[in-house]
Amino acid sequence: MADEMQTPTTFTIATPGRLTFDDENDLMTYVLRFGQEQGMAITKGRTRKLNNALRSIDFKCDRGGSYRDRRTRVKLRSGWTLRAINNEHNHELDNDMSGHSSSRRLDAASRQTVAVMTAAGSQPRQIVTTLRQTNPAINLTSRTIYNERNRIRQAQLDGRTPISALMDELARTDEYVMDFRVGDDDNITHLFFAHHKSIKMVKLYGSVLLMDCTYKTNRFKMPLLEVVGITGSWKTFFCCFVFLAAETQHDYEWAMQAISTKLYDGLSPPITIATDRDPGLMGAIGRIFPTTNNIICLWHIDKNIVSNCRRDFNGDEEDWAGFLGMWKATVQSLEPAEFDNTWDRFETSYLTTNPSAVQYIKATWIPHKERFGTPWTRHFLHLKSTTTARVESAHHTIKSYIKVSTGHLRDVQAKICLAVENQDKEIHAKLMNDRIRIAHSHRIHMLRNIVGRVSAYALEATLKQVQRSAEANLSPCTNHFTTTMGLPCAHYILHGTQGTHDFRLALNDFNRHWWIDDSVYTPDIEAAEPEGGHPDIQPIVNHMLERYHQWTLPQQVQARHRLEEIAFGPAPVIHDPIIRRGRGRPVGSTARHNTASTQRDPSAFELAERTPRLCGRCRQTGHNVRNCPN
Ligand SMILES: [Zn+2]
Ligand SMILES: [Zn+2]
Ligand SMILES: [Zn+2]
Repeated sequence: MADEMQTPTTFTIATPGRLTFDDENDLMTYVLRFGQEQGMAITKGRTRKLNNALRSIDFKCDRGGSYRDRRTRVKLRSGWTLRAINNEHNHELDNDMSGHSSSRRLDAASRQTVAVMTAAGSQPRQIVTTLRQTNPAINLTSRTIYNERNRIRQAQLDGRTPISALMDELARTDEYVMDFRVGDDDNITHLFFAHHKSIKMVKLYGSVLLMDCTYKTNRFKMPLLEVVGITGSWKTFFCCFVFLAAETQHDYEWAMQAISTKLYDGLSPPITIATDRDPGLMGAIGRIFPTTNNIICLWHIDKNIVSNCRRDFNGDEEDWAGFLGMWKATVQSLEPAEFDNTWDRFETSYLTTNPSAVQYIKATWIPHKERFGTPWTRHFLHLKSTTTARVESAHHTIKSYIKVSTGHLRDVQAKICLAVENQDKEIHAKLMNDRIRIAHSHRIHMLRNIVGRVSAYALEATLKQVQRSAEANLSPCTNHFTTTMGLPCAHYILHGTQGTHDFRLALNDFNRHWWIDDSVYTPDIEAAEPEGGHPDIQPIVNHMLERYHQWTLPQQVQARHRLEEIAFGPAPVIHDPIIRRGRGRPVGSTARHNTASTQRDPSAFELAERTPRLCGRCRQTGHNVRNCPN
């Protein structure tokens, strides 16, 4: 018995003989019947194509040794010629065919389940469990699932290599924008792609980006540049992904060029891009986005300082805390001169006791001070991208989808697609929630004009400023908060509330980043083509009716009022923008001016809100309660 296992007996069968067929179907029928008569389950193997025409098909018995040992090939010359390559089998031929895996076929419903669950990233083990729950009598193993997945994969590839299938999939749908580059041997060296959901996000939230490379995502060991942004609800969104051949400035320049032309076409370039201290990436950003502020994220700097300097303090926690405290004070100086002075004092304080720690910071980080020091970063919108580890958690999310480091780019891309779509659902749900659920603490007079119109995160941050404005020892305004966050600061609020109880924050006190944009909720409506010169509102009406039934009664009442205004009220009038006081102007408002051409037309609800305001006492226009003549 043991001998037999080491050198399996071979069984020779009668060869089908060298036959010629005119038609592929005739050939197939013949081969299958031949197999059945001989007691073999025959499956179709590899196909070869030349100039897109089918040239040969391999057939094989589904049991026994390696693939090479059990194939039969047919070649197309003039008609199909069937030729046996190997007619020796390492197993006895069956009388009962049920043992063959091809007989352990899944029914259509189960195959559908496998396809759906595979697309959703489920493991074969989980799929087996699900199928057994649905049908306890089902005859299957994990191997059945692997086979079925392989079959699906082969069907999708349809004779193409995975890379050409991937290129087709990216290029032929509206789901993606993509760009790629090939090397001297026509091998792919760079691949850029962005999901259409991400493109929409960039239009709304493209002011600040964060970029970083992650590794071990694919079998070609290509680094993957991940680009993420920040939504108005303070969530991270995936912006785009770029597989790179290497990490030179040259490679990064290609990636930046793709981002610029494919994502920012017609938009203002990003105000801020946060990166690691990577000379190639920083150089590329400088060349392709010369007006963008490229900052180095302090989170990385601090992490590096800890790993390089801490050992220098030999466990003296107090001394180490003092060192970090002084570094922090340096970074958070307000003016460049103050930064330099604080650094000088810092250097002198530790030069004799901890020379290598000081030298490390001096050589590694001080040359880049303008990319992270507050004196320089406080003059533009960066949404705290200086201090958060957003890209790192995005890496983590992506890796939790990719799971293995040995996949093809096509596998990685499919997993990324899944991650982006799931993330988009979360972002969407969060914004929807911000729009209709107003927290009790946000129902205060000052926020009355903006609740439901800016994100809950922005309201919460503003509420903190409202509380700060009431503090006795409020420090003088540096404009730092408003400039970097695009939100009204405590000083602005204090100024507004002085001498009046009727101060309300306005939408324009908030950077557009925080506005809840209607286009987020209405994905299918953008496509509505104007018909006969008029924009078609029917899809909007349908969409609204659909949602109307899901709303609570108070929401339905409110919506009804608004619709009455549109249907029966005075025709909408569009007014000039309000000229704002210079103080508290959100940074980026000049940039917004440039993008005016790409902005959406106001929605019906917005138009309705711009109809003349009525007096609270007599319901007439042209004056308000305070100067009401009636
Ligand atoms: Zn970082
Ligand atoms: Zn202020
Ligand atoms: Zn009145």
